[in-house]
Amino acid sequence: MDLTDAIDVGARPSGTGCADCEINGGWWVHLRRCAACGNIGCCNSSPGQHATAHFDRTGHRLMRSFEPGEDWYWDFETDQVFDGPELAPPGSRPRTQGSPGPRERLPDNWRELVHP
Ligand SMILES: [Zn+2]
Ligand SMILES: [Zn+2]
Repeated sequence: MDLTDAIDVGARPSGTGCADCEINGGWWVHLRRCAACGNIGCCNSSPGQHATAHFDRTGHRLMRSFEPGEDWYWDFETDQVFDGPELAPPGSRPRTQGSPGPRERLPDNWRELVHP
């Protein structure tokens, strides 16, 4: 695979939460980081599924988990786990932030709204 367009190890994370959810007041289950541009999006269990939306919008095919202690990549083109390099810090959201998050925007029935 030609990784020059898919990974920029110098790209900083866009923030500590899903960039799209922060704009529209949403919430997420787990966070994913685009390996090409640093955009933080939410996983497919989340209502917004913004990491996948970011791939659909940009073609940036590799994302990495932005959860503490996780370092796996996902390749949207092949739908397979991928082993990639270390990226610019921070490597994950703050541990204190918790999951799902953000706490103040979680609806009481959030469990019913998670995608299986
Ligand atoms: Zn989101
Ligand atoms: Zn991207």
